[in-house]
Amino acid sequence: MPTFPFSEADPIQHPGPPPKTSEVVIVGGGIIGVTTALFLAKRNIPVTLLEKGRIAAEQSSRNWGWIRKQGRDADELPIVIEAIRLWRQLAEECGEDIGLTQAGVTYLANSDKDMAGFEAFMKIAAAYDLDTRLLDGDETGKLITGMSRKFKGAMTTPSDMRAEPWLAMPAFARLAVREGVKIVENCAARTLEISGGRVKGVWTEAGYIEASTVLVAGGAWSSLFLKRHGVSIPQLSVRVTVAATEPLPEIYAGAAADEHIAFRRRQDGGYTLAAGGSHLLYLGPDAFRHVTRYLPALRDNPFGTRYFPFAPPGYPDAWSTPRAWAPDTRSPFERMRVLDPVPETAKLRSIERNFKHLFPRFETVRLKAAWGGMIDAMPDVVPVVDRVEAVGGLFVATGMSGHGFGIGPGIGRIVSDLIQGNRSGHDLGRFRLSRFHDGSAIRPGPAL
Ligand SMILES: Cc1cc2nc3c(=O)[nH]c(=O)nc-3n(C[C@H](O)[C@H](O)[C@H](O)COP(=O)(O)OP(=O)(O)OC[C@H]3O[C@@H](n4cnc5c(N)ncnc54)[C@H](O)[C@@H]3O)c2cc1C
Repeated sequence: MPTFPFSEADPIQHPGPPPKTSEVVIVGGGIIGVTTALFLAKRNIPVTLLEKGRIAAEQSSRNWGWIRKQGRDADELPIVIEAIRLWRQLAEECGEDIGLTQAGVTYLANSDKDMAGFEAFMKIAAAYDLDTRLLDGDETGKLITGMSRKFKGAMTTPSDMRAEPWLAMPAFARLAVREGVKIVENCAARTLEISGGRVKGVWTEAGYIEASTVLVAGGAWSSLFLKRHGVSIPQLSVRVTVAATEPLPEIYAGAAADEHIAFRRRQDGGYTLAAGGSHLLYLGPDAFRHVTRYLPALRDNPFGTRYFPFAPPGYPDAWSTPRAWAPDTRSPFERMRVLDPVPETAKLRSIERNFKHLFPRFETVRLKAAWGGMIDAMPDVVPVVDRVEAVGGLFVATGMSGHGFGIGPGIGRIVSDLIQGNRSGHDLGRFRLSRFHDGSAIRPGPAL
């Protein structure tokens, strides 16, 4: 198993130089950019994917690896149902073991209030004929063994899945290359060339690429990139901490969480762990600019976010990060090849404590790895997937709000069809870019 997550120290797998022309250029080599590129290439459309650091070195290799329908926003459900079909298809096509396993996802309830929340989702689950069901305390104890306490109950979806992000993403990138995608790592897109209200190309740190269509799938950097061109999206990022244990006896083959601890069985027999509770928001100019749009989500989950007055230098919303730059000067994107936040020591302590508290038989277990990640979020906790009306040929798919890995291939397929001018096959109204500017009320989906 490779070292995870990825970092700038990893060798470049997809070197340049970029081509001089490409019908489509994709900015960002996470799961959204890679799968969109793949589906475009399957239709023989020339596509170049630019990644400022390494493929999937940001969120797409740092995530927990949950692929879930359970607990989704109702408007995302049909897309994630398609995504799960695509996960199986891509796992088959790439011909590599990506750890794709159907072992279920379970949310644990500590209170009647938790159970009431699960019951609300059961109505959505029924509408889509999901195999989601509620469990009582005894059933929960049988599903996940060795727990030190009895839960009120749980909600579980046996058909939900897991995969190893650090195996899946390089495998999907290799498949994309075989299908004809030109991937260029270590190559930041600096600015767009726009003329007559249309995209004409992309200025990169390695020269100009003429292109009639550009997709911005830059994860936590999308807002900074787009704002340079007058396109405003109220995207912010929060810091989270993750840890991995050594291989352990199996307590549950799937992924589960309550508000204190989240755990997911990995292919190597270890568990990927994270703390429940809050994430950290670094305050910067964008945080202040967009604060009113985040009020509904903050009201829904007032203790979900902690604040720090400034981000480390070079972060997308750091006070010192330039908001404007010329195509021929170093951009903020190449200054920070990989967003690699330091894991929080206090969080690591609570992760270890809470896991051992729940599973006393693992009292002597040690964490073998820990890492941080910046989750890109939108005020209503659902992504933006749309064309940019004001700039012909410009598309955006970003703000996956902490659950873009599972749904990723579905979004990739949809965006590839939007780019080709085809119908997406889904109602994308909830994900439209204009919702933040047309007076619509912000309606938060399920919390991060
Ligand atoms: C700790 C953690 C746990 C998570 N757990 C889950 C989970 O269990 N299940 C789930 O479904 N989701 C999960 N998520 C969320 C999921 O990982 C993300 O939603 C998803 O990976 C986002 O994919 P993306 O392609 O939009 O962005 P990213 O993966 O962040 O990729 C964007 C890429 O764009 C590149 N880029 C940006 N700007 C430029 C530029 N100008 N030029 C060139 N390249 C650029 C960046 O370097 C980056 O590699 C988790 C996220 C984190 C951080």
